[in-house]
Amino acid sequence: MGHALLQTTIAGSLPKPSWLAAPKQLWAPWLLEGEALEEGMKDAVRLVLYDQNAAGIDIVSDGEQTRRHFVTTFIESLEGIDFEHKRTMRIRDRYDAEVPVVVGPVSRRKPVFLEHARFLRAETSKRIKFTLPGPMTMVDTLFDGYYKSREKLAGVFADILNAEACELEALGIHIIQFDEPAFNVFMDEVRDWGIASLEQAAAGLKCRTATHICYGYGIKANIDWKNSIGSEWRQYESTFPLLAKSTIDQISLECANSKVPLELISLLGGKDIMVGAIDVTTEQVETPEQVAKVIRAAMKYVAPEKLYPCTNCGLVPLSREAARGKLRALAAGAAIVRKELAG
Ligand code: ZN
Repeated sequence: MGHALLQTTIAGSLPKPSWLAAPKQLWAPWLLEGEALEEGMKDAVRLVLYDQNAAGIDIVSDGEQTRRHFVTTFIESLEGIDFEHKRTMRIRDRYDAEVPVVVGPVSRRKPVFLEHARFLRAETSKRIKFTLPGPMTMVDTLFDGYYKSREKLAGVFADILNAEACELEALGIHIIQFDEPAFNVFMDEVRDWGIASLEQAAAGLKCRTATHICYGYGIKANIDWKNSIGSEWRQYESTFPLLAKSTIDQISLECANSKVPLELISLLGGKDIMVGAIDVTTEQVETPEQVAKVIRAAMKYVAPEKLYPCTNCGLVPLSREAARGKLRALAAGAAIVRKELAG
Protein backbone atom coordinates (compact mmCIF):
# COMPACT_ATOMS: atom_id res chain seq x y z
CA MET A 1 0.00 0.00 0.00
CA GLY A 2 1.16 3.49 -0.73
CA HIS A 3 1.59 6.10 1.93
CA ALA A 4 -0.04 9.52 2.10
CA LEU A 5 1.73 12.26 0.19
CA LEU A 6 4.30 14.47 1.93
CA GLN A 7 5.73 11.95 4.39
CA THR A 8 7.49 13.88 7.15
CA THR A 9 10.89 13.02 8.61
CA ILE A 10 13.81 14.77 10.31
CA ALA A 11 17.34 15.36 9.02
CA GLY A 12 19.06 13.83 12.02
CA SER A 13 19.64 14.80 15.61
CA LEU A 14 17.27 15.91 18.36
CA PRO A 15 18.27 17.48 21.70
CA LYS A 16 19.18 15.06 24.48
CA PRO A 17 17.59 15.05 27.96
CA SER A 18 19.59 17.20 30.41
CA TRP A 19 20.30 14.16 32.61
CA LEU A 20 22.08 12.49 29.66
CA ALA A 21 24.23 15.30 28.23
CA ALA A 22 24.62 19.02 28.81
CA PRO A 23 21.96 20.78 26.73
CA LYS A 24 22.46 23.17 23.81
CA GLN A 25 25.98 22.19 22.84
CA LEU A 26 27.71 20.06 20.23
CA TRP A 27 30.01 17.27 21.45
CA ALA A 28 28.36 17.59 24.90
CA PRO A 29 30.01 14.99 27.17
CA TRP A 30 27.88 12.20 28.62
CA LEU A 31 26.70 12.79 32.17
CA LEU A 32 26.36 9.06 32.86
CA GLU A 33 28.76 6.16 32.45
CA GLY A 34 28.84 2.39 32.08
CA GLU A 35 25.52 0.58 32.37
CA ALA A 36 23.74 3.74 33.50
CA LEU A 37 24.83 5.43 30.25
CA GLU A 38 23.62 2.53 28.13
CA GLU A 39 20.27 2.55 29.93
CA GLY A 40 20.06 6.35 29.70
CA MET A 41 20.72 6.38 25.95
CA LYS A 42 17.97 3.80 25.38
CA ASP A 43 15.52 5.75 27.53
CA ALA A 44 16.37 8.87 25.52
CA VAL A 45 15.62 6.99 22.29
CA ARG A 46 12.22 6.03 23.71
CA LEU A 47 11.56 9.69 24.57
CA VAL A 48 12.39 11.00 21.10
CA LEU A 49 10.23 8.27 19.55
CA TYR A 50 7.42 9.42 21.83
CA ASP A 51 7.93 13.05 20.75
CA GLN A 52 8.01 12.16 17.05
CA ASN A 53 4.89 10.01 17.39
CA ALA A 54 3.05 12.64 19.41
CA ALA A 55 3.89 15.26 16.78
CA GLY A 56 2.79 12.97 13.94
CA ILE A 57 6.15 12.51 12.17
CA ASP A 58 5.82 9.70 9.60
CA ILE A 59 9.35 8.30 9.22
CA VAL A 60 11.04 8.31 12.61
CA SER A 61 14.63 8.07 13.83
CA ASP A 62 16.64 7.73 17.04
CA GLY A 63 17.42 11.46 17.03
CA GLU A 64 21.08 10.40 17.42
CA GLN A 65 20.54 9.96 21.17
CA THR A 66 23.27 7.32 21.37
CA ARG A 67 26.00 9.50 19.84
CA ARG A 68 27.96 12.40 21.18
CA HIS A 69 28.52 13.64 17.65
CA PHE A 70 27.31 12.40 14.28
CA VAL A 71 30.83 11.80 12.94
CA THR A 72 33.09 11.34 15.97
CA THR A 73 31.05 8.60 17.62
CA PHE A 74 31.29 6.45 14.49
CA ILE A 75 35.02 7.07 14.13
CA GLU A 76 35.63 6.21 17.81
CA SER A 77 34.74 2.59 17.16
CA LEU A 78 37.33 2.15 14.43
CA GLU A 79 40.88 0.76 14.58
CA GLY A 80 43.84 2.88 13.45
CA ILE A 81 42.66 6.19 14.90
CA ASP A 82 44.24 7.89 17.92
CA PHE A 83 41.80 9.72 20.19
CA GLU A 84 44.41 10.37 22.91
CA HIS A 85 46.48 12.93 21.04
CA LYS A 86 43.99 15.10 19.22
CA ARG A 87 45.03 17.80 16.79
CA THR A 88 43.38 21.13 16.17
CA MET A 89 42.25 21.30 12.58
CA ARG A 90 40.12 23.61 10.48
CA ILE A 91 37.01 21.64 9.49
CA ARG A 92 34.45 22.43 6.76
CA ASP A 93 37.00 25.16 5.83
CA ARG A 94 35.22 27.19 8.51
CA TYR A 95 36.02 26.52 12.18
CA ASP A 96 38.70 24.88 14.29
CA ALA A 97 37.93 21.65 16.12
CA GLU A 98 39.93 19.17 18.18
CA VAL A 99 39.97 16.08 16.02
CA PRO A 100 41.37 12.54 16.31
CA VAL A 101 44.36 11.44 14.21
CA VAL A 102 44.63 8.57 11.71
CA VAL A 103 47.81 6.74 12.71
CA GLY A 104 47.54 3.43 10.85
CA PRO A 105 45.33 1.29 8.61
CA VAL A 106 41.71 2.02 9.49
CA SER A 107 39.31 -0.87 10.01
CA ARG A 108 36.07 -1.73 11.74
CA ARG A 109 36.53 -4.32 14.48
CA LYS A 110 32.83 -4.72 15.16
CA PRO A 111 29.50 -3.21 14.17
CA VAL A 112 29.17 0.36 15.45
CA PHE A 113 25.44 1.08 15.67
CA LEU A 114 23.92 -2.38 15.13
CA GLU A 115 22.74 -2.99 18.71
CA HIS A 116 21.28 0.49 19.09
CA ALA A 117 19.57 0.22 15.71
CA ARG A 118 18.13 -3.16 16.72
CA PHE A 119 16.76 -1.51 19.86
CA LEU A 120 15.21 1.30 17.80
CA ARG A 121 13.64 -1.24 15.42
CA ALA A 122 12.08 -3.10 18.33
CA GLU A 123 10.64 0.08 19.88
CA THR A 124 8.54 1.26 16.94
CA SER A 125 6.48 -0.23 14.15
CA LYS A 126 6.87 2.90 12.02
CA ARG A 127 9.30 3.21 9.14
CA ILE A 128 12.77 4.12 10.41
CA LYS A 129 15.49 6.30 9.01
CA PHE A 130 19.02 5.68 10.26
CA THR A 131 21.80 8.20 9.69
CA LEU A 132 25.50 7.57 9.13
CA PRO A 133 28.25 10.09 8.39
CA GLY A 134 29.29 10.28 4.73
CA PRO A 135 32.87 9.39 3.70
CA MET A 136 33.92 12.93 2.73
CA THR A 137 32.57 14.45 5.95
CA MET A 138 34.40 11.77 7.96
CA VAL A 139 37.66 12.62 6.18
CA ASP A 140 37.03 16.28 6.99
CA THR A 141 36.52 15.57 10.70
CA LEU A 142 39.92 14.06 11.51
CA PHE A 143 43.61 14.58 10.90
CA ASP A 144 45.14 12.07 8.50
CA GLY A 145 48.71 11.23 9.48
CA TYR A 146 48.78 7.92 7.59
CA TYR A 147 47.08 7.74 4.16
CA LYS A 148 48.05 11.31 3.22
CA SER A 149 45.25 11.33 0.66
CA ARG A 150 41.68 12.45 1.33
CA GLU A 151 40.43 10.39 -1.60
CA LYS A 152 42.15 7.20 -0.46
CA LEU A 153 40.92 7.59 3.12
CA ALA A 154 37.39 8.27 1.84
CA GLY A 155 37.53 4.97 -0.04
CA VAL A 156 38.53 3.14 3.14
CA PHE A 157 35.68 4.79 5.06
CA ALA A 158 33.23 4.00 2.24
CA ASP A 159 33.92 0.27 2.53
CA ILE A 160 33.53 0.43 6.31
CA LEU A 161 30.25 2.37 5.99
CA ASN A 162 28.98 -0.10 3.42
CA ALA A 163 29.56 -3.04 5.77
CA GLU A 164 27.75 -1.15 8.53
CA ALA A 165 24.88 -0.10 6.24
CA CYS A 166 24.31 -3.67 4.99
CA GLU A 167 23.89 -4.87 8.59
CA LEU A 168 21.49 -2.01 9.38
CA GLU A 169 19.46 -2.74 6.27
CA ALA A 170 19.04 -6.36 7.36
CA LEU A 171 17.27 -5.13 10.52
CA GLY A 172 14.50 -3.62 8.42
CA ILE A 173 15.62 0.00 8.24
CA HIS A 174 13.61 1.86 5.60
CA ILE A 175 16.08 4.65 4.77
CA ILE A 176 19.83 4.82 5.34
CA GLN A 177 21.07 8.38 5.12
CA PHE A 178 24.67 9.48 4.70
CA ASP A 179 25.31 12.98 6.05
CA GLU A 180 27.59 15.00 3.79
CA PRO A 181 27.67 18.65 4.93
CA ALA A 182 31.19 18.71 3.42
CA PHE A 183 29.52 18.46 -0.02
CA ASN A 184 28.56 22.13 0.35
CA VAL A 185 32.17 23.18 0.88
CA PHE A 186 34.57 21.13 -1.26
CA MET A 187 32.76 21.09 -4.57
CA ASP A 188 35.79 20.12 -6.69
CA GLU A 189 36.43 17.12 -4.48
CA VAL A 190 32.74 16.18 -4.65
CA ARG A 191 33.13 15.94 -8.42
CA ASP A 192 36.52 14.21 -8.37
CA TRP A 193 35.84 11.53 -5.75
CA GLY A 194 33.07 12.55 -3.33
CA ILE A 195 30.14 11.11 -5.29
CA ALA A 196 32.08 7.93 -6.07
CA SER A 197 32.86 7.39 -2.35
CA LEU A 198 29.23 8.02 -1.45
CA GLU A 199 28.03 5.44 -4.00
CA GLN A 200 30.64 3.01 -2.72
CA ALA A 201 29.21 3.45 0.81
CA ALA A 202 25.68 2.74 -0.49
CA ALA A 203 26.63 -0.06 -2.90
CA GLY A 204 24.20 -2.98 -3.05
CA LEU A 205 21.70 -1.55 -0.57
CA LYS A 206 18.08 -2.45 -1.36
CA CYS A 207 16.56 -0.03 1.15
CA ARG A 208 16.12 3.64 0.28
CA THR A 209 19.36 5.59 0.41
CA ALA A 210 19.65 9.29 1.17
CA THR A 211 22.20 12.06 1.44
CA HIS A 212 21.84 15.08 3.68
CA ILE A 213 23.69 18.20 2.52
CA CYS A 214 23.28 21.28 4.61
CA TYR A 215 24.70 24.56 5.78
CA GLY A 216 25.34 23.11 9.21
CA TYR A 217 24.00 23.22 12.73
CA GLY A 218 22.77 26.50 14.15
CA ILE A 219 26.10 27.34 15.80
CA LYS A 220 27.82 30.71 15.52
CA ALA A 221 30.56 29.64 13.06
CA ASN A 222 27.92 28.40 10.64
CA ILE A 223 25.61 31.36 11.05
CA ASP A 224 28.57 33.73 10.40
CA TRP A 225 29.48 31.68 7.32
CA LYS A 226 25.92 31.83 6.01
CA ASN A 227 25.99 35.60 6.43
CA SER A 228 29.18 35.76 4.35
CA ILE A 229 28.17 33.76 1.26
CA GLY A 230 25.99 36.31 -0.44
CA SER A 231 22.35 36.89 -1.15
CA GLU A 232 21.90 33.71 -3.22
CA TRP A 233 23.32 30.40 -2.04
CA ARG A 234 24.26 28.42 -5.15
CA GLN A 235 26.54 25.81 -3.49
CA TYR A 236 24.12 23.05 -4.53
CA GLU A 237 24.29 24.08 -8.17
CA SER A 238 27.45 22.15 -9.05
CA THR A 239 26.68 19.14 -6.85
CA PHE A 240 23.03 18.42 -7.67
CA PRO A 241 23.55 17.48 -11.35
CA LEU A 242 26.15 14.93 -10.18
CA LEU A 243 23.80 13.58 -7.51
CA ALA A 244 20.99 13.37 -10.08
CA LYS A 245 23.11 10.83 -11.99
CA SER A 246 24.12 8.93 -8.84
CA THR A 247 22.59 5.79 -7.32
CA ILE A 248 21.35 7.70 -4.23
CA ASP A 249 17.52 7.83 -3.98
CA GLN A 250 16.85 10.89 -1.80
CA ILE A 251 18.57 14.21 -1.31
CA SER A 252 17.91 16.67 1.50
CA LEU A 253 18.41 20.40 1.21
CA GLU A 254 17.84 23.52 3.29
CA CYS A 255 14.85 25.60 2.29
CA ALA A 256 13.49 27.22 5.47
CA ASN A 257 14.87 30.76 5.88
CA SER A 258 17.68 29.87 3.49
CA LYS A 259 18.88 31.82 0.49
CA VAL A 260 18.96 28.72 -1.68
CA PRO A 261 17.09 29.41 -4.94
CA LEU A 262 14.47 26.66 -4.91
CA GLU A 263 14.70 26.16 -8.67
CA LEU A 264 17.99 24.33 -7.94
CA ILE A 265 15.74 21.40 -6.91
CA SER A 266 15.08 20.88 -10.65
CA LEU A 267 18.75 19.89 -11.04
CA LEU A 268 18.02 16.73 -9.03
CA GLY A 269 16.00 15.12 -11.81
CA GLY A 270 13.72 12.39 -10.55
CA LYS A 271 15.13 12.06 -7.04
CA ASP A 272 13.09 12.10 -3.85
CA ILE A 273 13.60 15.47 -2.18
CA MET A 274 13.74 16.07 1.56
CA VAL A 275 12.70 19.69 1.79
CA GLY A 276 14.10 21.45 4.86
CA ALA A 277 11.05 23.36 6.11
CA ILE A 278 12.27 23.92 9.68
CA ASP A 279 15.02 26.42 10.54
CA VAL A 280 17.56 24.98 12.97
CA THR A 281 19.31 28.26 13.78
CA THR A 282 16.58 29.69 16.02
CA GLU A 283 14.54 28.64 19.03
CA GLN A 284 11.59 30.40 17.43
CA VAL A 285 9.04 27.72 16.53
CA GLU A 286 7.58 27.96 13.03
CA THR A 287 3.83 28.16 12.56
CA PRO A 288 2.28 25.32 10.55
CA GLU A 289 1.42 27.90 7.88
CA GLN A 290 5.11 28.92 7.56
CA VAL A 291 6.00 25.26 7.01
CA ALA A 292 3.17 24.87 4.50
CA LYS A 293 4.47 27.87 2.59
CA VAL A 294 7.92 26.31 2.14
CA ILE A 295 6.37 23.02 1.01
CA ARG A 296 4.16 24.81 -1.52
CA ALA A 297 7.15 26.75 -2.86
CA ALA A 298 9.16 23.53 -3.27
CA MET A 299 6.21 21.81 -5.01
CA LYS A 300 6.82 24.02 -8.04
CA TYR A 301 9.93 21.91 -8.64
CA VAL A 302 9.12 18.48 -7.19
CA ALA A 303 5.98 16.34 -7.29
CA PRO A 304 4.30 15.78 -3.90
CA GLU A 305 4.88 12.02 -4.26
CA LYS A 306 8.60 12.73 -4.15
CA LEU A 307 8.57 15.47 -1.53
CA TYR A 308 9.45 14.68 2.10
CA PRO A 309 9.00 17.66 4.45
CA CYS A 310 12.00 17.66 6.77
CA THR A 311 14.16 19.83 9.04
CA ASN A 312 17.02 21.86 7.55
CA CYS A 313 19.57 20.02 9.68
CA GLY A 314 19.92 18.44 13.12
CA LEU A 315 18.17 20.03 16.09
CA VAL A 316 20.67 18.98 18.78
CA PRO A 317 21.84 22.53 19.75
CA LEU A 318 18.26 23.67 20.48
CA SER A 319 16.15 23.29 23.63
CA ARG A 320 13.92 20.23 23.82
CA GLU A 321 10.88 22.45 24.08
CA ALA A 322 11.70 24.25 20.83
CA ALA A 323 12.51 20.95 19.10
CA ARG A 324 9.17 19.45 20.14
CA GLY A 325 7.38 22.56 18.88
CA LYS A 326 9.23 22.34 15.58
CA LEU A 327 8.31 18.65 15.14
CA ARG A 328 4.65 19.52 15.69
CA ALA A 329 4.87 22.46 13.26
CA LEU A 330 6.49 20.23 10.62
CA ALA A 331 3.75 17.60 10.81
CA ALA A 332 0.96 20.19 10.99
CA GLY A 333 2.36 22.17 8.04
CA ALA A 334 2.54 19.02 5.91
CA ALA A 335 -1.04 18.17 6.93
CA ILE A 336 -2.26 21.57 5.68
CA VAL A 337 -0.77 21.01 2.22
CA ARG A 338 -1.91 17.39 2.11
CA LYS A 339 -5.45 18.59 2.73
CA GLU A 340 -5.16 21.18 -0.05
CA LEU A 341 -3.96 18.48 -2.45
CA ALA A 342 -6.87 16.22 -1.51
CA GLY A 343 -9.36 19.07 -1.86
ZN1 ZN B 1 22.99 19.06 8.53
